Amino acid sequence: MISLAEARALIADNISPLRATSAPLAGASGRVLRQDVRAPEDLPAFDRSAMDGYAIFADDASEKFRIVAEIPPGAAPPIKIRRGECARIFTGAQIPAGASQVLMQENVRRENNFIVPLEKTRARHIRFRGEDARKGDLLLKSGTRLGAGELALLAGLGVAQPKISPAVRVAHFATGDELVAPEKKLKRGQIRDANSSLVAAFVRQFGGEMVRQERVADDFDLLWQRTRTLEKNFDLLLLSGGASVGDYDFGKKLLTVLGFKTHFTAVNLRPGKPLVFATRGKQAAFVLPGNPVSHLVTLHVAVRLALEKFSGANASWPLVKIRLAENFETKPANRETFWPARVEIRHGELVARPLRWQSSGDVTALAGANALLQLAAGAQPPKAGKDILVLMLEVP
Ligand code: AMP
Ligand code: MG
Repeated sequence: MISLAEARALIADNISPLRATSAPLAGASGRVLRQDVRAPEDLPAFDRSAMDGYAIFADDASEKFRIVAEIPPGAAPPIKIRRGECARIFTGAQIPAGASQVLMQENVRRENNFIVPLEKTRARHIRFRGEDARKGDLLLKSGTRLGAGELALLAGLGVAQPKISPAVRVAHFATGDELVAPEKKLKRGQIRDANSSLVAAFVRQFGGEMVRQERVADDFDLLWQRTRTLEKNFDLLLLSGGASVGDYDFGKKLLTVLGFKTHFTAVNLRPGKPLVFATRGKQAAFVLPGNPVSHLVTLHVAVRLALEKFSGANASWPLVKIRLAENFETKPANRETFWPARVEIRHGELVARPLRWQSSGDVTALAGANALLQLAAGAQPPKAGKDILVLMLEVP
């Protein structure tokens, strides 16, 4: 059995980034940038007023200034300001030639076509050209995931069609004779399919697009029929359940029959040991152990890396030290353990609160989990008040 670190290295080594495409900014939210972006010009591109007021020659000691122009934002003033003159100007408007200071309108008295400064100040109140960035500065690197702020920057730079990664196409099959849709009434022995909702939300969060999602009974032939017709129409195949060695666990066999090459079938991980990873050409597949908490863990420690590799994103492994808020009991395991937890703010500090979790089949521990407490193989959990390593589920 391999370690999680070895498993992650195999995933990283066997998946290549999808071919990048250009797309409008409106469709780029959550996608990964696939080009370095430099400032095409100075930012801002011209000196701008930072205030509503009057533009003058800097430190002009005149008693009165004659208003020779009015410059609204967006105008290109064809004038030159001389001593004793000023231009009425508004925030964001271009500073006219000759001017190099803006007097705030609160600090002047207006007399017809003149202004009289009420106080002298050396403050310029100008956003100078190139103050934010210089032409050629590297502002965004390839591999950055595009959020609201990055999209705003691209818009400001005029990069309207950035090169980005396409959405990773994911096909997901939840296997199990016992599974029914969430809206169904349960018959004896049945459980509601929780994993499909978990997987769908997770895939969307990390830049994937669900191209197919179905529940399938524990019937090898049926699952084979469903998956073989997919051919090249997915990048990542996820099978929930059937990762183990029970009579109904045929995920690994299915992947072999479909022509996938298996890279590992078990990881020294708790929960989530029976985890299968395989590839077929540029496509990849995982069989995830069906327990919902095992699902949460394997999605974040393994599948997330695959989605990042496909989309050319920087691999994220946000492991941080955070104070443990409460004691929790767990038998020391010889497997690396990830325990569902909630990182929250108490008295202005971050703390990690372990969530109640008896067995990996529990679904209640899924709600509220925004982190996983990490325990090395064989390690005891620290006592409350001590630091613990925490893998954040949302990339900070
Ligand atoms: P398996 O990996 O198929 O052996 O499943 C392990 C456990 O997880 C069993 O108790 C299953 O009933 C449960 N399970 C499997 N798939 C799901 C699912 N989609 N939603 C909720 N529980 C599941
Ligand atoms: Mg099963």
